Amino acid sequence: MREKCGIFATTSENAPKKAYYALISLQHRGQESAGISIWRHRIRTVAGRGLVSEVFRNGELAKLKSNLAIAHVRYSTSGSLTETQPLETSCCGKRIAVAHNGTLTNFLPLRREYENREIKFHHSVDSELLGLSFLWHLKEKGDEFEAMGEVFRGVKGAYSVAFLFDGKILVARDPIGFRPLSYGVGDGHYFASEDSALRLFVDESEGGRIRDVKPGEVFLLDGESVESRILAEERHHGCVFEYIYFARPDSTIDGVNVYSARVRMGRELAEESPAEGDVVIAVPDSGRAAALGFSQVSGIPYAEGLIKNRYIGRTFITPGQFYRELKVRLKLSPVREVVSRKRVVLVDDSIVRGTTMRRIVAMLRRAGAREVHVRIASPPIRHPCYMGVDIPTRHELIAAFGSVKKVEGSIGADSLAYLSVDGLKRAVGREDLCMACLTGEYPEWAFRF
Ligand code: SF4
Repeated sequence: MREKCGIFATTSENAPKKAYYALISLQHRGQESAGISIWRHRIRTVAGRGLVSEVFRNGELAKLKSNLAIAHVRYSTSGSLTETQPLETSCCGKRIAVAHNGTLTNFLPLRREYENREIKFHHSVDSELLGLSFLWHLKEKGDEFEAMGEVFRGVKGAYSVAFLFDGKILVARDPIGFRPLSYGVGDGHYFASEDSALRLFVDESEGGRIRDVKPGEVFLLDGESVESRILAEERHHGCVFEYIYFARPDSTIDGVNVYSARVRMGRELAEESPAEGDVVIAVPDSGRAAALGFSQVSGIPYAEGLIKNRYIGRTFITPGQFYRELKVRLKLSPVREVVSRKRVVLVDDSIVRGTTMRRIVAMLRRAGAREVHVRIASPPIRHPCYMGVDIPTRHELIAAFGSVKKVEGSIGADSLAYLSVDGLKRAVGREDLCMACLTGEYPEWAFRF
C-alpha cells in the first residue's frame, strides 16, 4: 500500500529552499516525482521524476527565488506516470499551480461537466480539476473563499491541496479531512502534510505555533496577510492508515501522535491475541513501535531480529522470480543469533498480498526459528480505497475472501492474529476514522454527487 502524495506550502523568506528540505522530510509519502512552484511575477515550476535529491541535483534550486512556494512529492494513483506536481493549468485567463494529496471520487462525471462548459483540461490527473474548478468559480464569485466554498460543494473525495496563483497561496483540507494537513506559524506561514516537516522551520519553544488544519478549513495567504475560514461542516473521517503505516512516527495527526498510537496498537494486540514466544521482533520499520507495545504487555523481550537495508533504492530493474527473491533477501535479513532456536513473535503493521510476509516467515525458519507466530497491528484489509491510497484489487488482497486460518496457512506461520477494529479504534483514541478498506463502510459524503 502506498500513500499518494505529500504537500508543502509557505510564505516566508527563502521559500524554495525551505520547500526543498520539507519535501525531503516528506519523501516517505511519494518517491516517483517531486516539484516546487514559486511566484516571481508569474508561476515558475521545477519538477521531475525521481527522489527530491535527484530532481534538484543540478542547481535548479539556486535559480528559484521567492517568498512564496508550494511543493509536492508524488506517488501516482491516477493520471500518467510522467505527470509531476505541482501541475500548472489555466482557465478564465488565469494560471494556477496545484499541489494535491488525495483522490477525487467524482472526477470523471465532473470532468465531463466542465468539458461541456468548454473548459480545457491539459492533464489526465484528477488534481487539475481542483485548480480549474477553483478558477472557474473565482471568475464567477470574484472572491477566493466563496470560490473554494463552491469547490467543496462540487468536488467529492479526498483532497488536501495548495494553490499558487496571482501572487497568493490558498491551502485547503477537504470537509472529511481524509488526508492530514498541518499549519505552522513562526517567521512565516507553513503548511505540510505532516507536522514533522513543519518542525524544521517552526520552533514552538520560541513562540512558534503548530496545529492541524481542520476539515473544511481554507487559508488564504496574500502578501503579509493570512486569513482562515471554515467553509464546510466538519464530517471528520481521517484515514486510519496514516496511523498504521503511512505517516512518520514523529508526526502528530489530528491531535494523536503516530508513534504512541502504534505502540498502543501493539499493546491492544497483545491483550487480544497473546502468543507463546521467546522473542518479539518487528518487520522494520513500520512494525517496530507495535512490536514494542506487544513486548511491553506480553513481557516477552523485544529484539531486532530483522535488519533492513536502507540503501537498496532502485537497484533492481531485472524482472523474474530469482531477482524478486534476491531483492527481498537484500532488503531484509534475519539476525540468526536473535531468532535461532526461538519461538519468534513477528509483528508487522499490515498484510496486503501476503507475498512479503510468506518470504519473511520462510526466511526466519531458514535462520533457525523454531516457531513463527505472526501478529498484525491492524485488522485484515479486505476492500479497495477510493480516497487516494493504492490498494491492490480485491482478488489480490490475501484477506479479502479467505479466513484468518487460510491466510495463516498461506504465509506458513504457526499462528496468525490481527488486531480487531475496536482494538484499533481504542489504540488511536478516535472514533471518527475512515476504516473503509477494513470494514467496507465508506464515508457516505465522499460519494454523494
Ligand atoms: S479506505 Fe483505508 S486507506 Fe483509504 S482512506 Fe479509508 S482508511 Fe485510508
